[in-house]
Parts: sequence; structure tokens; C-alpha cells
Amino acid sequence: MGLGYHRRRLAGFVAGMRLARRFGEAERWPRERLCRHQQERVETVVRHAVRYSPFYRERFAGLVEDEPVSLGRLPVLDKVGMMENFDDLVTDRRLRREELLKRVEETGRDEYYLGNYRVMTTSGSSGRKGLFVYDEPGWSAIIAQFLRHCAMMGLSPRLPRRRVAAIVGGAPTHMSWQVAANVSVGVHNVRTLPVKRLVEELNRFRPDHMSAFPSLAVMLADEQLTGRLRVSLKSMITTSELRTPEMTDRIVEAFGVRPFDMYANTEGLWGLECERHEGIHLFEDAALLENVDEDGRPVPPGEPGARLLITGLYNMVQPVIRLEVSDVVALDPEPCPCGRTLVRTRAIEGRRDDVLELPGRDGGVVAVHPLQFALLTRDREVREFQVLQEGEGLRILVVPRAGADPVERLQAKVRQRLAELGVEDPKVVVERRAGLPRPQSGKLRMIVADPVTHRVR
Ligand SMILES: [Zn+2]
Repeated sequence: MGLGYHRRRLAGFVAGMRLARRFGEAERWPRERLCRHQQERVETVVRHAVRYSPFYRERFAGLVEDEPVSLGRLPVLDKVGMMENFDDLVTDRRLRREELLKRVEETGRDEYYLGNYRVMTTSGSSGRKGLFVYDEPGWSAIIAQFLRHCAMMGLSPRLPRRRVAAIVGGAPTHMSWQVAANVSVGVHNVRTLPVKRLVEELNRFRPDHMSAFPSLAVMLADEQLTGRLRVSLKSMITTSELRTPEMTDRIVEAFGVRPFDMYANTEGLWGLECERHEGIHLFEDAALLENVDEDGRPVPPGEPGARLLITGLYNMVQPVIRLEVSDVVALDPEPCPCGRTLVRTRAIEGRRDDVLELPGRDGGVVAVHPLQFALLTRDREVREFQVLQEGEGLRILVVPRAGADPVERLQAKVRQRLAELGVEDPKVVVERRAGLPRPQSGKLRMIVADPVTHRVR
């Protein structure tokens, strides 16, 4: 990492700042203007893809001859397809999936590839490693979205003394680490902390802003309530996992701040609650989203879809066009009182895969939403838990609070709840654990569906 690296990083940040200013105006545009902007970007990205990506050229043959490009006519892409066809899909023929993954593993740090590109990997819940390459415009859009979320929370990038603790996963190629590393350029004092000895570290660091996964935030809330953790926060962000109203209450009780719920995926769609905390505003000026049902048809506003289709509006090197993401979302048709016109979702209700399907008394299937397990979150004796679906039953791993023995009580409680939902003879086993293993990303999956049972439908 020489001078060239730092100069490039700073240049990328400046470009991001410029784009952030444009995004700042776009948040309050009338919807028609936003749609016009999206269509212009779609034209640019799709035409670039058809010209330089053999994969898209073949896929879109005969579909994009006319203007304007009609996105709804283009085939949908899934993550596996994107990864399997990576070498043909990217618009720079020098980029090779295997080589990039190898280099990321070898160097394992924040770098530029071929002088230009940022590379990101994701653990991928499907077991296959996700690989994302960003060019300069693509990376600027990421930085701009990061700056926007600071602005929406009232965190001004002009306050150089702000102490930000971003408690993220260990892998430097993980998205959140990359962004944190990038905004540290003369703007925030961003620190990444290991999960171990977190409380000690936090006491020493005395952050006034913290971002963490909800399960971790609740754990820290307990530490704060017992007095072991002593931080005074001005703001907090939670992200990536489901945050129930009970979890929110406990965080507010401990830290005296209302956390902003954030949504961000490597595919390029970001979102954040505004000061009203009435749903997450999705940053549609950087990524276009379509909310669709099981058959890929658009769902009406206000109704939950089965998945989202995402089209990235800035990254030209790895064009993301109608990529499926298995998030269950209902888009709010009402405008937000804050005046931003970016669409809101009431709650990112969790991955579609987190909705468990159990046999019903009536012979059908009962869909058990992750929010049903709020009864575990709410329980004062539960520190952490994980619900594992095994065939037709559930095994629930629980880390109880010191001195508590909630196993049998919880077993009865969950059984009763499932019975109320119409589940036939609910099979629930609660097991006590000293701790739950966290994946390298640091993100604990609260609900893990049985991959076999889940696909039967
Ligand atoms: Zn708002």
C-alpha cells in the first residue's frame, strides 16, 4: 500500500462526496423525476452490459433493440447464475473469478485490483461465496450511500472527533469493513473491534456512535444495564438481522437512544430509517428495486412480496440487472412525514428463507414468521438464541442469563405458540448452550430453516 493507494482512496472518497450531494437532492424529488433518473441509469447500465458482457449480450438478444429499455421484459438473474457465469458477465475480460478469489484470500486486505477495481466477497447463505467487483462509479455510489446514512442520522462528516465503533465481522473483504476503512479518510474516527473483550474495549474507546448487529446490540444493552459496560451513545445503528420491537425497547432502555435500523446488501441496495423511525427508506436512486411474488409478478404497494429484484444503477463492471434477493418486504404506499420521497418498507421482514414452514393440523402448511420468536427475544432470562428447523421439529439453542434455567419453560412457551398458530403436535426441543458459534461475518442467523423440508413445495 503506497502513496498511490492512499491517493486513489481519497479520490474515490471525493467522488463519493460529490455523488452524495446529488443523492441528497434526489431524496426529495417528486416520484416522476426519480423514475426518470432510474430509467436513464437503466439505459446506460443495460446498454453497457450488452456491449461488453458476452453473458448479457446473449441473454438480452432481441429484447433491448428498442428504446426505452423495458426492464420488466428482461430475464431474472439469481445469485448462483451470477457467480457461475461471472467471467462472462463482467464487462472487463481480464477479470477472472478464480483468480480474484485467490488474490482476495492471499492478500486478504483492502486493495485495488488491476489499478481500478474494489473487490468484495460475501459468505453467501447458500454456501457459495459471493464475489462483487466495483469500478469507480460503482464504488462512489457505495460511499455516497454511506454518507447519506450518516446524514440521515444527523452524523455530520464534518465532525472529525466523533468516535465511531463499527462492530463488524473479522474479514477485511467484508462489505462493512471496506466501507469503514474508506470513510476513515479524514472524516470519521472509525474503529473496528474484535467481538472478544468487546466490553473492555468499548469502555476504553468510549464511542459516541455504535453500529452492531441487533443480537449483539441487545447483549451489549444487558452489559450496560448491569453496569459492566459504561458508554454514553449519541446514536446507534443496527443492521442485517431481524430487530424486534422488544429488542428495540431493551436497547433504548440501556443506552437512551433509539437505534436506526439499516438495510444493506452487497448487491447494492441500501436503506435506513429516517428520524421518524417509521420504516426503512430504500435508496432507490442508487439501485432500482422490484417487489415481486412467487411467480415474479409485481405486487401492489402495501402487500408483501416473495422476493426483491435489484438492478444496480451505477456499477458498470459487474452489472447487476434484475438480481433476485430473497427478502420479504412490504413497501409502504404512504409518503413519509419527513418529506423524503424514497419508498419505505415497514420492516425488512427477514429473508424468505427465515420463514419456517411446519405441518398444520388441517393437513396444510403453517408459515411461521421470525417475529413469532420475539417471545424468546423478550424473555428476560434469554441472552441469545438460535432456532434450527430439523424436519418437522425445532431445536432451539439458548444461551441463558447467569443463574437462569429457562429451558423447560421456554419449551412449553414455544410449543404453545406454535399450537396457537395451527401447527400439528409441535415438536420443540430447547437446549442450553454456553455460547453460540458466530460465523466469520459475525452475523448470527437467528432462524435456520431445514434446507430439505424448506424446498418441498
Ligand atoms: Zn422519512
